[in-house]
Amino acid sequence: MMPAPPPDRSSSIEPLLRHQLRQAIQASIVEANKAKRHCAVLVLAAEPKDRLLLLTQDWVDARIEQALSELPTLLRKVDRYASLGQRQWCVLLPGLTNVAQAVLAAHKISRSLSELLSDQPGKPWARILIGIACHPEHATDADALLIRADAAQRQAEASEDGICVFLPDPAQEDDACLPAIRSEVLDALASNNYRLAYQPQIDLASGRCHAAEALLRCTLPNGSRVPPTMLARVAEQEGKVATLTMNVLNSALRQLGEWSSRGIDMRVSVNLSPYNLRDRDLPDVVAGAIASWEIDAQRLTLEIVESSMIHNFDQAASILNRLKALGVKLAVDDFGTGYSCLAYLRQLPVDELKVDQSLVRHILRSKADRQLVRATIDLAHNFGLHAVAEGVETIEMLEVLSEMRCDTIQGYLISAPIEAEHYPDWLRHFEADALLRPSPGFCNVSTHPKQQGRTAVRP
Ligand code: C2E
Ligand code: MG
Ligand code: MG
Repeated sequence: MMPAPPPDRSSSIEPLLRHQLRQAIQASIVEANKAKRHCAVLVLAAEPKDRLLLLTQDWVDARIEQALSELPTLLRKVDRYASLGQRQWCVLLPGLTNVAQAVLAAHKISRSLSELLSDQPGKPWARILIGIACHPEHATDADALLIRADAAQRQAEASEDGICVFLPDPAQEDDACLPAIRSEVLDALASNNYRLAYQPQIDLASGRCHAAEALLRCTLPNGSRVPPTMLARVAEQEGKVATLTMNVLNSALRQLGEWSSRGIDMRVSVNLSPYNLRDRDLPDVVAGAIASWEIDAQRLTLEIVESSMIHNFDQAASILNRLKALGVKLAVDDFGTGYSCLAYLRQLPVDELKVDQSLVRHILRSKADRQLVRATIDLAHNFGLHAVAEGVETIEMLEVLSEMRCDTIQGYLISAPIEAEHYPDWLRHFEADALLRPSPGFCNVSTHPKQQGRTAVRP
């Protein structure tokens, strides 16, 4: 158990600056290694109810600041803390004997702060969300611990008690190599050293390609490739995600304009980070980009993930409604992997559901996954939405999806993401191939000898 915190304010610990925090985390990792102990990083946020925030932002901020000023009284003398920005704090707990101690400490902090943020007992007007990452269980250096505690804090929104220990996610395993290349990734972000590749999307009814998803690509000077999820995560960490998204958006729209001038009629999808839906300026940025590249807004789809809505539904909904009013289309990406709160589908102006590839992957082998994908496609149609299947790698998968009346497919079967300059050539060949196909319905593709046994071409 954690020793009781010092109640006496005179022994209260002082907050660290951000760079001091990183140094302190690194130092406690070294200590932990020597003493065969553990240390934990907690990322803590106070999330006020949105309506309250609209009405009385200054009051809310002052009360939260006041509550957080009590944080040192909840910590041990050896613990450290630092502000990470508005309503966000980081706590370092060194010298632990196990992860459970960090969880107990988080519960204690959460309970005490919630009380301070309540006007009636047990009814806080702001929620305390805490993400926990421990050394050596979840990461072994300061940056990775911070990233993972931050990731856990976002997951904490979905947990009942607002506390979440980092859950290793196979998709985030790339993080393991992040510390080694973090400064190069930061350089790449600072110098806009990234580009877009475009993955075609095929309309199953016509077999034609009228759309592509823009996907980030970043190669470091030493030739290694940075996964786009890592680039986006570092941008989120560093508060640079608005710039990243703006650059991606402008680049994709400029590309659309260029293709259009060459007679290529495309639509493009751009991925948004959940952080973009906390930025009230986003609709103005999108409107500005559409206007400056003179693109019909209908040709742009913005992809959001389900967790963007969970964070702060009212704010995200208001931003999405403003985006929709511009005429852009909205897609829910990776549908089926997140919290799948179906109520929002009714309330939000989305046009498209992208069934996540982890569900699509096993449709041939797993009856349960097949049923899940079919139900998701039906759900999309019942809500008047377009269903897109991601990660389609074989003709057999395409046939099953076609039988399920999926509208659009995307995956290595058709093509891996293609560099912009090669896209027109790819499209020309694809269209030429289409003339050989026996019927407009793409579902018949496997009956053609040229297509027999065709499987994915991996990037
Ligand atoms: P996503 O938006 O769901 O994109 C689909 C991912 O699946 C892409 O990975 C794509 O290359 C991959 N993929 C496509 N077809 C297949 C297939 O048949 N099989 C398999 N196994 N994979 C397939 P990629 O390019 O590595 O991107 C990963 C994720 O990074 C994206 O997932 C998206 O969440 C994020 N991302 C990419 N570009 C951006 C961006 O501009 N901004 C933000 N915020 N995130 C981005
Ligand atoms: Mg996407
Ligand atoms: Mg996806």
